[in-house]
Amino acid sequence: MLPGVIGLLQATDALKLILGIGSTMMGKLILYDALNTEFRELEIRRDPNCAVCGKNPEIKDFIDYDEFVATGAVCSVAHA
Ligand SMILES: [Zn+2]
Repeated sequence: MLPGVIGLLQATDALKLILGIGSTMMGKLILYDALNTEFRELEIRRDPNCAVCGKNPEIKDFIDYDEFVATGAVCSVAHA
C-alpha cells in the first residue's frame, strides 16, 4: 500500500511537470507517516559546492553509483 501512495504522488507530479500546471515537490522532501496518516514537508536547499548541482558542476553524466557516493562531494539528500 505504501508504494502505491508514494507512486501516486510521483505520478501526479510528473503529470503536472509535463502539463506545466500546479506546483510540484521540486526542492522538497515529503515524509509520509503511514501509521498516523501524516505528511511532513521539508525544503531542501541546493549545496553551492555540490559536484552535480552546484555552481561549478564536475559530474555531468552518469557515473558508477559506489564511486558517486564515495566522493562525498554531492548533496546527500538530493542525489543519494
Ligand atoms: Zn546537488
